[in-house]
Amino acid sequence: MGRYIGAVCRLCRRQGEKLFLKGTKCQTEKCAAAKRAYPPGQHGQGRRQKLSNYGVQLKEKQKVKRIYGVLERQFRKYFKIASKTKGVTGKVLLQLLERRLDNVVFRMGLGISRSQARQMVRHNLIAVNSRRVNIPSYLVDKDDLVEIKAKDKVKIKIKDNLELSKDRTVPNWLEFSAADMKGKVLRLPEKTDIQQPIQEQLIVELYSK
Ligand code: SF4
Repeated sequence: MGRYIGAVCRLCRRQGEKLFLKGTKCQTEKCAAAKRAYPPGQHGQGRRQKLSNYGVQLKEKQKVKRIYGVLERQFRKYFKIASKTKGVTGKVLLQLLERRLDNVVFRMGLGISRSQARQMVRHNLIAVNSRRVNIPSYLVDKDDLVEIKAKDKVKIKIKDNLELSKDRTVPNWLEFSAADMKGKVLRLPEKTDIQQPIQEQLIVELYSK
């Protein structure tokens, strides 16, 4: 299965909540989920959903996958790692997702959305501990240094992103200097560092069937 390339706002509307996939547009009145708060499609307005337990669990999993832009195969891989790791599986799962390099670039405000951050990583603009890394799923660790390695022309564009993201706070597990376009991983992320409400235990129940 390939990556989803359709209109991302439809994903929010199908989910029934804002997933903040489009960067700055998500904060404006142009947000499709706010303007049309019903599922997409011809019969979206008339559709009433009564979900089973399984449906609720599946919906939560889809939500998290969409937020982080992760496909099923990789998501399952994260779950497998989380279930074998010491600690609460759901929390470890979220921690793995948060530690992805594309997410870190987004959290620092270098990219206005995770998909843009992902593209920046893919285009070799990001270095971890002074070495360029072009793998969006690369997992950062405590004390890692994340910085921009790009020509001045590109840096100007990234500065614009920082300006657009200035209302977003950098989470406490990261330290970031906008002037230097450099950041550091102070500690591993906790569930409380994730602002969006996620019920990770529903995902654990789904995969534990
Ligand atoms: Fe979702 Fe953002 Fe589109 Fe609103 S603007 S529907 S939050 S992606």
